[in-house]
Amino acid sequence: MLYRFTHALAEAYGFVAFGCFVLLFLIAFAFTVLYPIVPLILIMLAPFAVVLAVGGSRLLRIIEHSIARRRLQTSRCPNCGGRCEAARRMDSDADDEAPVEALACAGCGRAFAASGRLLQTPPQSSSSAAH
Ligand SMILES: [Zn+2]
Repeated sequence: MLYRFTHALAEAYGFVAFGCFVLLFLIAFAFTVLYPIVPLILIMLAPFAVVLAVGGSRLLRIIEHSIARRRLQTSRCPNCGGRCEAARRMDSDADDEAPVEALACAGCGRAFAASGRLLQTPPQSSSSAAH
């Protein structure tokens, strides 16, 4: 439950942060002629807002992975609570094409890396390894 909430929050955080930046741009644009100090202040605050956006995203990911690791230590799926088995899955974020060790859930079909990161790719099919 807590994992699903933090995962959904971490997934939506980028869109929310982008929406906030668009909103700040519209506010700055509206005040350009009326009261020019507002866009100047917003320009000065923009680097701190970027740090807040990136830092918040990373903090949410750290919390999400920490919760997932705690559940995976008991071989339970962080998402559905089902039993997780050791498996090999492709890591879409990795630079190489080698499969990595993962914990796969039979219930919901998700696979997690040891770090708690969700591996999005589907399992490797055995028919492609014929040669
Ligand atoms: Zn599951």
